[in-house]
Amino acid sequence: MTIEKTMLGTQCIWGGEQTSLLQGATQVPVVHSVGFAYNDVDEWMQVALGEKPGHIYGRNTNPTVAVFEEKVRLLEGGAAATSASTGMGIISSTLFGLLRPGQRVVSIKDTYGGTSVVFTEFLERFNVNVTLCDTTDHQQIEAEIAKGCELVYLESPTNPTTKVLDIARLTQAAHNVGAIVVVDNTFATPINQRPLQLGADLVLHSATKFLGGHADALGGVVSGRKDLVDQIYHYREINGATLHPMAAYLLLRGMKTLNLRVRQQNENAMAVATFLESHAAIERVFYPGLESHSGHKVASKQMQGYGGMLSFSLKENSFDAIRRFIPRMQFAHAAANLGAVETTIGPPATTSHVECTPEQRAAFGIPEGLIRYSTGIENVEDLLADLDQALAIF
Ligand SMILES: *Cc1c(COP(=O)(O)O)cnc(C)c1O
Repeated sequence: MTIEKTMLGTQCIWGGEQTSLLQGATQVPVVHSVGFAYNDVDEWMQVALGEKPGHIYGRNTNPTVAVFEEKVRLLEGGAAATSASTGMGIISSTLFGLLRPGQRVVSIKDTYGGTSVVFTEFLERFNVNVTLCDTTDHQQIEAEIAKGCELVYLESPTNPTTKVLDIARLTQAAHNVGAIVVVDNTFATPINQRPLQLGADLVLHSATKFLGGHADALGGVVSGRKDLVDQIYHYREINGATLHPMAAYLLLRGMKTLNLRVRQQNENAMAVATFLESHAAIERVFYPGLESHSGHKVASKQMQGYGGMLSFSLKENSFDAIRRFIPRMQFAHAAANLGAVETTIGPPATTSHVECTPEQRAAFGIPEGLIRYSTGIENVEDLLADLDQALAIF
């Protein structure tokens, strides 16, 4: 049976690994070498021209990094994959590698904070026009796409209010005008959602989050159509935001348990969201698994699980209430990262949307009193008890 025919949990463990193993080792080697030597100039030339597999220089490719890319490629079902030093590294390489002056991008207001800075501040300098639509208004997004564009950039579920986009529907609209579709799949992971199977051309991740899962390595990765991935790789090899081999190794090690972790996080998040929804101190809970969530139907159609991310607002809607509440949490780091085995908690003002002004956050529909909760893999009984004791002050 080929690895392509196996299921995702098996691919998390075996995907990409076999070809890189050395001298009977069962684990992928961390190749720190910057240069790769050849016995004769002809072979060196063939590798340099891409006619023969091999590596030339660490900024371009590396054996450990290649295994990481191959594992993600398999899990997402793409034709090719390439990586970068961070999620933002792969997002900016994708946008700057594919777009040309005079082109137009249609996206949503709720993209990750750093992505929206690329849209609103940097792309404009290169005469790329970006239209950011209301994330919940599919008709408006379709109407903007129909006016003509080259790239449609989606993210679902979004950060931090877990809004859900109908990926197949918007992909259809994009392909009608010949635009390519890029989906940030960081929150869902391929365990819960596979955008390429829904028709998207490219899927990308901040591997720093769920893929790595242990909050100890930064990375980014994109997978999909080979002609597009090649252009992104070409930009990234020159801009130099290369994934470090040690980070690639940590991400690979983390990914072996991706299937188990994400399924546990799905379960824990559902229990936490249900608990918070009926708690007297809570105003509102945003989680796609809840029937009260506006994107629940679409999420049920396109996702295999609702993910580990949720957010909620306190009835006492002030930053001061958050200031008093968060330090009371015992089993949740007050930290900016997410998707790790430990639960993390924080307000968007200090995490995903720290780059934005309060006015911009308001325009993105993010209440200042919102709390983002990234569910870990702890025993859920303890997570519920922790929230309950911390909320007792209200
Ligand atoms: C964190 C994050 C990014 C950026 O990734 P980095 O690894 O921090 O550069 C992009 N998109 C989403 C959804 C994220 O959560």
